[in-house]
Amino acid sequence: MNLAHWLQRAGRVHARRPALLLGDQVVATYAQLAERVARLAGHLRHGLGLAPGERVALFMSNETAYLEALYAALWAGLAVVPINAKLHPKEVEFILGDAEASALFVSPALAAPLVAARERLPAVRDILVSGQGEFDKAFATAPIAIQEREPDDLAWLFYTSGTTGQPKGVMQTQRNLQAMTACYFIDVDDVAPDDSIVYAAPMSHGAGMYNFPFLARAARHVVPASGGFDPAELVALSQSVGKLCLFAAPTMVKRLVEHIAATGAPSDGFKTIVYGGGPMYVEDIRHALATMGPCFVQIYGQGESPMTITALSRDMLADTAHPRHAERLASVGVAQTLVEVQVVDAEGAPLPEGETGEVVVRGDTVMAGYWHNAEASAGALRDGWLWTGDLGALDAEGFLTLKDRSKDVIISGGSNIYPREVEEVLLKHPGVREVSVVGQTDAEWGEVVVAFVVGDGLDAAALNATCLQHIARFKRPKQYHFIDALPKNNYGKVLKTALREQLKQGE
Ligand code: AMP
Repeated sequence: MNLAHWLQRAGRVHARRPALLLGDQVVATYAQLAERVARLAGHLRHGLGLAPGERVALFMSNETAYLEALYAALWAGLAVVPINAKLHPKEVEFILGDAEASALFVSPALAAPLVAARERLPAVRDILVSGQGEFDKAFATAPIAIQEREPDDLAWLFYTSGTTGQPKGVMQTQRNLQAMTACYFIDVDDVAPDDSIVYAAPMSHGAGMYNFPFLARAARHVVPASGGFDPAELVALSQSVGKLCLFAAPTMVKRLVEHIAATGAPSDGFKTIVYGGGPMYVEDIRHALATMGPCFVQIYGQGESPMTITALSRDMLADTAHPRHAERLASVGVAQTLVEVQVVDAEGAPLPEGETGEVVVRGDTVMAGYWHNAEASAGALRDGWLWTGDLGALDAEGFLTLKDRSKDVIISGGSNIYPREVEEVLLKHPGVREVSVVGQTDAEWGEVVVAFVVGDGLDAAALNATCLQHIARFKRPKQYHFIDALPKNNYGKVLKTALREQLKQGE
C-alpha cells in the first residue's frame, strides 16, 4: 500500500471536489491534482530515470506545488526528503549529500545557491524549480500507474531540527505515516469533506505530514498566500474558506490568540487547532480556550514517532469542571491509540506512577531508524522501544506530564530542577511574556538556575516574589536576564543551547 493511493481514490471518487487552494482560490480539484501528480511522477520515473526507493528532496517554501511534488514522488515509489525552507544553502547541501538525493524540487526564490552548487552534488540528477521551465513541461509527460510499496519502505526522510550537531535523517516508512493518519482520526479529530487544512507552519515538518488525513478524506488543502503564519491572514481565511484546521507550535497559537483578543476578530471559522512540538504553558492554553473556545487539541510527538505519542483531546481540554482539569492542562494527554507509552528508569524498567523518568514509546508510528547511522539508531531504539530523550511522569489515569528534555534538566546542589516548572511559575507574573530557564555551571552548586525573560517593567525582586509563592526556594532563579526576544529555531523552538552558550561566554 502506497500513501499515494489516497490521492488516486480521491481523484476518482471525488473528482470535482476542491483539493488545492491558494488563499481562498481553488487551483485544482481532486481529479486535476491526481492527473498532474501522475504526470509529474511519470517525469520522475521515465524522464529522469529514477528507480523506486530513490530519494527526492523538497527544498520549498509553503506553496501549492509542494503537494504536487510530494505526491508525485510518492506516486512514483520514491521517498521524499522535505527540507526546512529556512535552512542555509550549506545545511541543505549537507542533507542532499547525506540523503543521497537523486533529484531536488526547489522554490524559485531558493533556487540560485543550489543551482550554483550543482557540481558539488553529483548524485542530484536534476533540479526542478517549481512553476518554471522543466517543472512545467513535466506535466506534459504521460501519466503513470502508482508504484506499489511495502509497509516498511521508506516514505519520508525527515531531518531532525538539530539544535545541536548535524541533523540526522529519521526514516519514516509508509507504515509509520499510515499509522499516524489513523491516529489522527481516532485521537485528534475527524475530518469532513469541507474541512480545510491550512499550512501556516512549514510543510517540511509536522504541519506538512498532517496533509495525509486530509488527503485520505479528500478534504481541502489551503496554502496561505503569504506562505506562512500571519494571524490576520488566518482570520480572513477562516471567514472566507471556513472550517480551518491547522497545526501550530505553541508560540504561533499564542500570537493568534493575542491577535484575536486584541482585535475582537471572530474565531468561529477555526474548527481545530492542533498544537504541540514544544511546551504549551498552562496560562497560555487557558487564555486560548477562553478567547477562541474549544477548538484546541494537543499532541506530543517527535520526528522519530511522527505527531503520534500522546494526545490531549478537545473534550479533555474543554472539560473545565473536571477536578483534575488543571493537571490535565499541564499534561500532554494520554497515549494515542496505536502506541504504548511508558516512563522508565535508566535500565528500561517501568517506574511507578508519579515518578519521573525517560519516556519510551512503541508502536507502528515508530521510525525504522536513522538513515545510515547504526550507532544513533541503536541508541534510540532499544528492545523495540523508542527512547525519546524526553523526561516525564505518568499519573494513575495514564496522563503524561513532560518535564523537560533530559539534557535540559538542571542539577543544582544534587537536586533535579525541571526548567519547565520554573517557567510555568514565572509566566504567572502578568509582566512576563516569554521565559526560558537554563542551568549555568557553578563551582559551589554544580549548576544554578538562570532565567531569560521577555516582558515589560520587570525586576528580579518581583519575579523572586512570584517564585516564592509557588515553588521551593532552591528552584528560583539565581539570575535573571531581561532580553528583547528568545533565540528560536526555524520551527519556533527556543534554543536553550544558544542561551547556555551565551552564559558560558559571559563567564
Ligand atoms: P521534533 O522531532 O523536532 O518535532 O521535536 C520533538 C520534541 O519536541 C519532543 O521530543 C519534545 O521534546 C518536544 N515536544 C513535542 N510535542 C510537545 C508537547 N506537546 N509538549 C511539550 N514538548 C513537546
